[in-house]
Amino acid sequence: DIKEVSVLGLGAMGEAIARLYLDQGYKVTVWNRTAGKADALVAKGAVLARSASEAVRAARVVVMCVYDYRAADAIFALDGVAAAMDGRLLVQLTTGSPQDARDAQAWARKQGAAYLEGAIQAAPDQMGQPDTPLLVSGARPVFDEAEPWLKALAGGIVYLGEAASAAAAMDLATLSTIYGTMLGFIHGARIAEHEGFDVAEYGRIVAGIMPTFAGFLQHEGSVIQSGDFAISQSPMRISVEATRRILQSAQDSGIDTGFPAFAAGIFQRADAAGLGGEELAALIKLLRAKQTSA
Ligand code: NDP
Repeated sequence: DIKEVSVLGLGAMGEAIARLYLDQGYKVTVWNRTAGKADALVAKGAVLARSASEAVRAARVVVMCVYDYRAADAIFALDGVAAAMDGRLLVQLTTGSPQDARDAQAWARKQGAAYLEGAIQAAPDQMGQPDTPLLVSGARPVFDEAEPWLKALAGGIVYLGEAASAAAAMDLATLSTIYGTMLGFIHGARIAEHEGFDVAEYGRIVAGIMPTFAGFLQHEGSVIQSGDFAISQSPMRISVEATRRILQSAQDSGIDTGFPAFAAGIFQRADAAGLGGEELAALIKLLRAKQTSA
């Protein structure tokens, strides 16, 4: 039997999504604010809806991927869209915050639509691979129904449970890892450059340690979940010293100290708080202290 899908939003990601469905034999209806972006897809067999509401009505499963939730809300507010949502299954792949996801789910349910939230963790040309990561959350029966439509986009689906906000929250948490790592990477690139190394080679060396680092991250995650911070792999004291050394070297060589001062400062606080003799992951105890917003 032929599967049907409607795709709203044909930016870089929405276009890649629509193309994947076409490639896999789906009957695809598309809509985009700027209709001209549908031309190449129509040439491949997609049907261009004359309005967003017509696109929503064209299939049970409606996949939306636009710039942000303001864009999604603008589409929800278009003529007839709310009424057309009744009986649809909306897969929201627009990136947003946990609160955005909760609000969108509440809106969809009010219109009589089932709702799934998805967070894409890949670039458009990485979509459709067996290992393409896609975080998904929402009611289990809805996920079960939509799973074939999701699998058409990403082989690496992680279902995070019933709370619609979960995919967005996990997306935030994993982005935190990526940006933390990226900041350290760029500071390292500056060290390499300053010392006259080939920075591309530095990048290759870093890539080489990533599998080991990945195992280490998994271990530290388990430590935090277990609550047992007895030293198991990496004593905090080593990191206190390492970050102090990175900072000292930056000062000695006159390169930017922003990142190492930040990192060394956190580890110094951990040491001062008496965590030096615990596993590195005990750093989370500092972060659990109540914060007052600035
Ligand atoms: P683009 O900037 O390429 O496309 C943006 C899309 O949003 C276009 O379809 C645009 O329509 C639409 N849009 C923006 N504002 C409005 C509005 N007010 N009303 C109606 N439509 C609007 O973005 P991407 O396709 O790259 O990204 C889409 C989503 O995918 C984002 O949430 C992004 O975070 C996520 N994502 C993207 C990745 C990437 O590498 N590209 C990676 C992971 C997630 P129009 O063509 O008319 O301007």
